[in-house]
Amino acid sequence: MIKTRLAGHAQSHFDLQCAAMGEARRKREAVLNGPCPCSSGKTARLCCFNGQGWHKPSAVLGLKALPATGRVEKCYMKELGSCFPPISAEHIISDSVCRVLMGDGEFSISGVPWLEAGETKIMPPLQTKCLCTKHNSALSPLDASAHYFFASLKSYLEHDAGSRHAILSGHDLERWILKTAKAAAVSRNLARGRERLSGAFSRDEAILDMLDDPRHWSEGAGLYCTMNTGDIAENTPRFQFQPLTDEHDEIKAWRSTSWAFASSCCSKRLI
Ligand SMILES: [Zn+2]
Ligand SMILES: [Zn+2]
Repeated sequence: MIKTRLAGHAQSHFDLQCAAMGEARRKREAVLNGPCPCSSGKTARLCCFNGQGWHKPSAVLGLKALPATGRVEKCYMKELGSCFPPISAEHIISDSVCRVLMGDGEFSISGVPWLEAGETKIMPPLQTKCLCTKHNSALSPLDASAHYFFASLKSYLEHDAGSRHAILSGHDLERWILKTAKAAAVSRNLARGRERLSGAFSRDEAILDMLDDPRHWSEGAGLYCTMNTGDIAENTPRFQFQPLTDEHDEIKAWRSTSWAFASSCCSKRLI
């Protein structure tokens, strides 16, 4: 009798475990067969789940593999020899990101050298002519990645209860910030104090390689979150950007805040 009861108890415990394992497996299968959280539109198991864990590969831009077509003088990638005219109007901060930041409101800007200290101006997002049509379009995967990052931050802060996951390549976000820094620099929109910077980076010659392939970022270089556990994130739709310069006023690194997410991007090579 006691044996039977013990066996029965063991059996029901075993059944419960099976049920729990079955439920976990069903949930896992549903996630793997559902849409990938990187927003590619593909099924997760055919996209960023590699059988062991999650990994979003960085975008392959192929800048060095573009066929030779010529140079557009104002394009900062002209040394690649693969420009296609005309020079295009490039948003310094990607248009899609500006739209997420604006929401239903207006776009405003401050801290640029052509505004008074402390002045904020409501205006359309800034554009500059620093890339030809071909090279502007070649960098568009980085814009898409940044858009997904900002849209996810906004969604988490304003709508989600915390159950949705998003995955993106950190290398793409790093390269988007470098691209944004380059556009802001060559359009002479950066200043130290009230003094306009020349726009030169201390390692300008490394920038095309770094944009093209994350493997050209030296060890230790990259985007670092500078927030600590317990820091409060405010729902403030903004993108702040501050260049960090050396004694020649050349840009070595930069600090940025995306919404409330503070980070620094630095490179041993740039430093
Ligand atoms: Zn994916
Ligand atoms: Zn070009």
